[in-house]
Amino acid sequence: MIAFNLESIYKELPSGVKLVAVSKFHPFEAILEAYSEGQRAFGESRPQEFASKAVQLPQDIEWHFIGHLQTNKLKLVLPYASIVESIDTEHLLEAVNAWGLKNDKVIPVLLEVHIGAEETKQGFTPSEVLELLKRTGEFPFIRFRGLMGMASHTDNEQAIREDFACIKSLFDECRRQHPELEGFDQLSIGMSDDWRIAVDYGCTEVRIGTAIFGNRQY
Ligand SMILES: *Cc1c(COP(=O)(O)O)cnc(C)c1O
Repeated sequence: MIAFNLESIYKELPSGVKLVAVSKFHPFEAILEAYSEGQRAFGESRPQEFASKAVQLPQDIEWHFIGHLQTNKLKLVLPYASIVESIDTEHLLEAVNAWGLKNDKVIPVLLEVHIGAEETKQGFTPSEVLELLKRTGEFPFIRFRGLMGMASHTDNEQAIREDFACIKSLFDECRRQHPELEGFDQLSIGMSDDWRIAVDYGCTEVRIGTAIFGNRQY
């Protein structure tokens, strides 16, 4: 089933859009099945699970950390992450930068943007993102690669479109204001239920879990 699901997504996904297979709460075998189909980018959201998979699974996997990250868990994540997509506070950004300094490693990140209606959702507001990007010089061990967001959890397609239009216009504005930020070119939006809509809004990456692996297992 995993192979079948992946193949049908590959067929539909435009060639410039990267698929991150979100394997959180799925066992190693599920990841290996996707790996044998050629899938190399995987997303995880819990530090301990992320670290144990990254250490034990094939070393050419590109691991994306996409979950809430506490500053006391950095050592489980930063040694293995090809990118941290879920930078949601300045405090976290400072801690990641400090870890990078200490370990002599530049960490690629996306800023998580609070779009959509949910009260509980993490992330920066659009104006906070624009303010922060004026001060990237304070974070020499961070490589700012773009934005990540989640649309409102709803069946209302119009509401989802508004969320994606909002983050897309923020993304364009960031790029317009900061041509000096080389490699600020990633827009990670779109999950199992809304990735086709995200493609309409120029995403460069989708993060898909359930539509590949089925319901989460533990
Ligand atoms: C779990 C998760 C996904 C994948 O969600 P699905 O609906 O299973 O595709 C994508 N992005 C983030 C940040 C997640 O936490």
